[in-house]
Amino acid sequence: MSRSRSYRFSSLVVFISASLFFTFAGPVRAEVRTEVKIPNIPEYTILKCDFHTHTVFSDGDVWPTVRVEEAWRDGLDAIAITDHIEYQPHKKDVSTDHNRSYELAEPQAQALGMILIRGAEITRSLPPGHFNAIFIKDANPLDTKEYLDAIKAAIDQGAFVFWNHPSFSHPKGISEWFPEHTTILEKGWMYGIEVVNGRTYYPESQQWCLEKKLTMMADSDIHDPIGMYSIPGVEEKRPMTLVLAKERTPEAIKEALFARKTVVYALGMLIGEEQYLKPIFDASINVLNPSVNLSAGGRGICQIRNNSEVSFELECAAQPEDITVPQSLVLYGDKVTRFPIKAKSKETTGTKKVKVSYVVKNLLIAPKTGLPVTLDFEAVFTK
Ligand SMILES: [Zn+2]
Ligand SMILES: [Zn+2]
Repeated sequence: MSRSRSYRFSSLVVFISASLFFTFAGPVRAEVRTEVKIPNIPEYTILKCDFHTHTVFSDGDVWPTVRVEEAWRDGLDAIAITDHIEYQPHKKDVSTDHNRSYELAEPQAQALGMILIRGAEITRSLPPGHFNAIFIKDANPLDTKEYLDAIKAAIDQGAFVFWNHPSFSHPKGISEWFPEHTTILEKGWMYGIEVVNGRTYYPESQQWCLEKKLTMMADSDIHDPIGMYSIPGVEEKRPMTLVLAKERTPEAIKEALFARKTVVYALGMLIGEEQYLKPIFDASINVLNPSVNLSAGGRGICQIRNNSEVSFELECAAQPEDITVPQSLVLYGDKVTRFPIKAKSKETTGTKKVKVSYVVKNLLIAPKTGLPVTLDFEAVFTK
């Protein structure tokens, strides 16, 4: 090998090495998942789920894989893509196979460790309105003339079926229970109702779920890219159904849904049964100084850490006997809040156990009814 050929060969090696360096060792774009901070409670892991989303395969504006990507970024554990069966405005451009959106999204869900649940939206005029069927095996048999046949086709596949956005397209804009809903319920084909859809809270749905023993659901029903849902600083998070599951699997989610073990998380509220809201509050709250010293002129300071991201809005139900506490109190999400307490009389001495009764106004156990809680600490009175 001549000197010049050797030189050219070395140059080639340097060029290839440099190319490989830039190909494999160049800057990699990092992707970020923002986790939803709601602590687990005894016996359950709390899964964050959105069971109502659309893609271009019905009237949505995004490709199915994007729904999975968005959900990963939003810290969700599971989503269902529920394209309309009866409404496919993009059918000139995409397949009319009702299973296609799920099939396209599934590999991305696998890659990201997301749970993707096969679903569809049975889309009929009110009554009965729109119903989501999730945990179906094949969406195409739901494409049938009579609404009862469509629901039955889902039920026959073991689906979990729930009524969406009850007031949608009602001429008076109200949520009304029609005889058709009684028919579906009596057949045992309705398991839940959306208590929140997008930015709308339906107190009637909450009441119906309590009375008729149905599962409370909250979903985004997102059609746009999810980034277009949030209003920065005002409403940043999509609504979600918190599922109290035994483990992070599709089977455990399905079991929990049928067992009505859900809490709605939306619009800065948690909505659900007291038996589930209470442990979530208890798991979130940590009184940092359970023994409060009231030495300085009968005044003391209490500090409470809130380990959830939900700010709890408390209203005192009854002032305790020996001390005065704030009538209204916000325990800010993921922060330590401190507040003053004051002895009612300078004559009080010794150590007293204090149980303060508050109502958490944004944790709703029934429409307009907050969760009753007690804050426990001891007050040390010294002169
Ligand atoms: Zn709908
Ligand atoms: Zn929808």
